[in-house]
Amino acid sequence: MLFITIRRVYTHLSDLSNEEILDYYNVTSLKELNSHIEHVKEVLKKQIENYEEELEEIDRCFCLDSRADFKYLYPSKKEAEEQVKFSLKSKRVKLTLYACPFHCGWHLAKT
Ligand SMILES: [Zn+2]
Repeated sequence: MLFITIRRVYTHLSDLSNEEILDYYNVTSLKELNSHIEHVKEVLKKQIENYEEELEEIDRCFCLDSRADFKYLYPSKKEAEEQVKFSLKSKRVKLTLYACPFHCGWHLAKT
């Protein structure tokens, strides 16, 4: 039952009657309340997703290549190894893999 959940999650509403809770959310029926809660959940979910995207951007390191561009960072060693194989096969360029000095992941360098 939605009302019970709401009272449990939002302790400041725990003493309210069903009608008062509907009133609080400015809705007239349980159905409306349900869609309101769904909407709130959606908004929260989006906020969490945005937050994770921000984290990923912060996760970048400051290593530069010879042209002073930011070096591409591979978060997993396996991904970097795949790229080494790919470059050798398709471009005949031999790359070496090394750990990022900032401990963010892995970089590739031409040899
Ligand atoms: Zn780095």
